[in-house]
Amino acid sequence: MRRPLVAGNWKLHGSRASNASLLGAIRAGLQSSWHLDVMVCPPFVYLAETAAALQGSPVILGAQDASAEAQGAFTGEVSASMLRDVGCSHVLVGHSERRTLFGESDELVARKFRTVVAAGLSPVLCVGETLQQRQAGATEAVIRQQLDAVLAAVSDEDLARGIIAYEPVWAIGTGHTASPEQAQEVHAVIRRTVLARSARIAGELRILYGGSVKGANAQALFAMPDIDGGLVGGASLDAADFLKICSAAAGTTQ
Ligand code: PEP
Repeated sequence: MRRPLVAGNWKLHGSRASNASLLGAIRAGLQSSWHLDVMVCPPFVYLAETAAALQGSPVILGAQDASAEAQGAFTGEVSASMLRDVGCSHVLVGHSERRTLFGESDELVARKFRTVVAAGLSPVLCVGETLQQRQAGATEAVIRQQLDAVLAAVSDEDLARGIIAYEPVWAIGTGHTASPEQAQEVHAVIRRTVLARSARIAGELRILYGGSVKGANAQALFAMPDIDGGLVGGASLDAADFLKICSAAAGTTQ
């Protein structure tokens, strides 16, 4: 039985004051009877303060990105070991906004995956097709290509540390969620691809769905057999909606 995970990606949002009230509301609303992992991924500058605000709570901390380099003359970069140092346990790698807006290649994403694992953290590898690719019938090929780039670059041990997030680009921040069936179809492709490498890892691998997840659609998505939780952008900034998503992932109805 895979433990569900709901991760909030705050993207380029927040302030010290708004983060404090959001975290306070999330902490107050999470029920100890809910069996799931909950993570927040604030911008880099707020990570240390968020780690302090989460002391004594079960909420875990993730970063939105990390450098592929461990250290050195790379102005503006933040390394995975620094993220670990300030309290992160997870790092998103290959988010579609990094791939499309910042030109991250499959090869770079694979290097980031390895660097994150080497620092003792768990990468959350994001994969997903554009609308054009879906309409051209290329969804499976695109997902396999993004996955294969990482699978080819990492050991079984590294792979087992990872989580995968299927995020169709056309669903991110658009309000157009994939239907539970559309999402399940791709999640099954992802699990089968990993299964060809290792049945054990595939069985234990958590595959999150991301793309306009809200309190109103979460339950139907999470009811699918290969959907193990969500990577949530916009709705993670609204404590009530985020808690509703967490409740759905825990299998309760709030
Ligand atoms: C995301 O940022 O990864 C995301 C899925 O955003 P949203 O939930 O807003 O679509």
